[in-house]
Amino acid sequence: MIDLRSDTVTKPTPAMRRAMAEAEVGDDVYGEDPTVNRLETRAAEIAGKEAALFVPTGTMGNTIAVKLLTTHGQEVICDARAHVTDYELAMMAWFSGCVPRTVPTADGILSWEQVARLAKPVNPYSAPTGMIEIENTHNMCGGTVYPIETIREICDGAHERGLKVHMDGARIFNAAAASGLTVAEIAAPADTVMFCLSKALGAPVGSMLAGPAELIAKGRLYRKRLGGGMRQAGVLAAAGLVAIEETPLKLVEDHRNARFLAEGLARIPGIRIDPKKVVTNIVIFDAAGTGIPTAEISARLKQSGVLLNPINDREMRAVTHYDVDRAGCALALDALAEAVPARAAASQL
Ligand SMILES: *Cc1c(COP(=O)(O)O)cnc(C)c1O
Repeated sequence: MIDLRSDTVTKPTPAMRRAMAEAEVGDDVYGEDPTVNRLETRAAEIAGKEAALFVPTGTMGNTIAVKLLTTHGQEVICDARAHVTDYELAMMAWFSGCVPRTVPTADGILSWEQVARLAKPVNPYSAPTGMIEIENTHNMCGGTVYPIETIREICDGAHERGLKVHMDGARIFNAAAASGLTVAEIAAPADTVMFCLSKALGAPVGSMLAGPAELIAKGRLYRKRLGGGMRQAGVLAAAGLVAIEETPLKLVEDHRNARFLAEGLARIPGIRIDPKKVVTNIVIFDAAGTGIPTAEISARLKQSGVLLNPINDREMRAVTHYDVDRAGCALALDALAEAVPARAAASQL
């Protein structure tokens, strides 16, 4: 199977499995797992923050971040298609008593002007703004990368008003590979940053939340409260350490494969995509012009050994990662061309 559903589907590499088997472990709730401690130190260093916390999932990392940066009854300003608002089971409301204030954007990239217009102080009528959330790269907008100037403008503006900024950097290493900046440079203006080890980096489990030491210490308590206090988690952290050191160098290859996919897709009648917009590992395309429902395209692809999911009845998403090479992408394109015969496309024109 050529699995392009997500970059979460990668299997641990032989180096990760070796590191897992040999990992030195202890009870991490006691703070005694040396491998988890090493991963947290290294992740903080890479993120350019004082401290970092190993969490089971990106959702838990974001959930803890919102809790740390807000109080009950506040608003969180984020893009309208942000992962925190669409794919995390209303965690803002559930754990932090906050509501999202969503902003429609073209590419998932907020501007300071948009944020400034919506940021509200305490007043007798509306929920005050608690924090700003930015997603980099932006998943549902096709892996788009925040320009560093925009990140700085938003964070500077927010800080001037006493507001905090959390970066959902699930794929911040992709943003780094695409922009030539370091993860620390990208995350520097934000108060906290979450990144996933289990997405593009290819670790089997885990994410990191990084930020000021005092906040991360408090976050450790929220992690426990959420049920995320793990014991001999060094076996997982060991794979994370391999992922964090070895995979970032390979991400440019995923990006080239994504662009290759996008260019091929643009040539298939009925499919709409601007390949120039594909700068990281996520390829979102509009298949409405084929006249075939996206669920049906997905089913046909599965028959040919290609897994690729619809997002809705128009759009589909392909995500490249180290378990699908260029040849796999070429096969996926062939399967797609076969799944949406030009005949069907022509009848739609
Ligand atoms: C996947 C993802 C998350 C959450 O990660 P999980 O580990 O699946 O909980 C958060 N933000 C973005 C942008 C993601 O793509």
